[in-house]
Amino acid sequence: MRKITSTNKLDYIYLDYHSTTPVDKRVAEMLLHYMTTEFGNASSIDHIYGDSAKEAVAQASTNVAKLVGASSKEVIFTSGATESINLVIQGSIPINNIAKIKPCIAVLPLEHKAVLDSCNMLVKKNLVEIINLQVNSQGRLDLDYLEKVCAVGISLLCVMAANNEVGNIYPIQEVGKIAQKYNIPFLCDASQAVGKISINFEEWGITYLAISAHKLYGPKGSGALIVRKGLQLNPILFGGGHQKGLRSGTLNVPGIVGLGEACRLRMLEMDGDEKAIANLRDKLQGLLLDKIPGLVINGDVDNRLSGNLHISIPDVPNSAIIARVRQKLAISTGAACSSGVQAPSHVLQAMKLPTDIIDGALRIGIGKFTKLEEIEQAAEILSSAVQQTRQVMYS
Ligand code: PLP
Repeated sequence: MRKITSTNKLDYIYLDYHSTTPVDKRVAEMLLHYMTTEFGNASSIDHIYGDSAKEAVAQASTNVAKLVGASSKEVIFTSGATESINLVIQGSIPINNIAKIKPCIAVLPLEHKAVLDSCNMLVKKNLVEIINLQVNSQGRLDLDYLEKVCAVGISLLCVMAANNEVGNIYPIQEVGKIAQKYNIPFLCDASQAVGKISINFEEWGITYLAISAHKLYGPKGSGALIVRKGLQLNPILFGGGHQKGLRSGTLNVPGIVGLGEACRLRMLEMDGDEKAIANLRDKLQGLLLDKIPGLVINGDVDNRLSGNLHISIPDVPNSAIIARVRQKLAISTGAACSSGVQAPSHVLQAMKLPTDIIDGALRIGIGKFTKLEEIEQAAEILSSAVQQTRQVMYS
């Protein structure tokens, strides 16, 4: 395998920003500083190394909270959105269920596996029941059905702010209103949305908000959970009682500082960056529609992340396209998959899309470092890959 180096990286085009983003150099510089110079343990109370680490963590809490309209006291740092989500889903199930009524969790079926598999694990242990919310073929959420489900009474509602495959942006403000009306705790996985669209935790009736640093130009292995004031969760990690006992473990100060700085920069630059990104996405969409007959755009095209372009070429399997482009262009068939085994996307299946659309699906993710030339080249690379594949298939 050819290695990507700082000199040859310009030969590759990275359009997989939903999977992860490059760390902003300004963020990386801060990380390095907090790894090598101000490297103290934020819990060390006996010297200035500890003091400066603690101060840096406090500053990061402020930056994270500001970006999502929360209070810095509501921020818990974690290893990423997966942990944040697990903490809410596992931590909100009563340990001694005296009531003996099985808690019920309502989920958007397009949620990330971190939500779905956490719920499934509890179902397997016979601890909860799951209700799937309803969506249409664009992945839009049926709010009337959601309200009916909330009216019956559930113990947790999970609706993501933006989807990691088709890029749909969900009406979190409206969902939060319904959740508040029926007093339902509401977990919003905002991994793909934070730093790309405005979010107001305090005003939108969100109870728990999951954030991941590596989706907003911060480091991997760092994230946060915003927990509404006064709410209790059962911890899933035990130890030194850090972070009010909710998440034990020595704080990852560089990661936390990196998340905080990434949030601060997003606050300043998000609007301008996202406009430019949307222009590039629209350009690419136009080029691909022109060059590839039969191309279909998936998802809710009126409410999607500015960097998302999710397409299907129904007569061409996505694996054939990936095989042809992978040495030049980084795009994906769906969510990043840890097992290495590609299964049909559960997101597209939940939208009840036809098999040929699912089999021909490609996710393109554009970000703030993407250039116009790369968009033009990507359109060329993709359209010739489709043409060549079709030639082989139909000759
Ligand atoms: N939720 C969504 C919507 C995601 O896109 C991801 C990352 O792929 C996660 C959760 C998991 O985030 P992390 O990698 O921080 O655990």
